[in-house]
Amino acid sequence: MGKHFKKGSGCFKCRLCGKLTRDVNGYNGSIELCELCDIKTGAENTLSDSGMDYPWHVFDACTTPAEVYKLLEEKLKELQ
Ligand SMILES: [Zn+2]
Repeated sequence: MGKHFKKGSGCFKCRLCGKLTRDVNGYNGSIELCELCDIKTGAENTLSDSGMDYPWHVFDACTTPAEVYKLLEEKLKELQ
């Protein structure tokens, strides 16, 4: 027995976007979020911690992690 990746193992539905996904970083599976929603949630928390009120839908339109990070950077500049 080797460490073979089991196809379909650990598949779950993201509780935010409903997309079928799997644990990609050893963490997002435990919170039932796909990778992108995990990144969006983290970015929202960063904005919240930086003083923005209710930043919960700021990243809704982002479709890639890169877009989330870019928008986060812009928003953080606005908050300074
Ligand atoms: Zn998701």
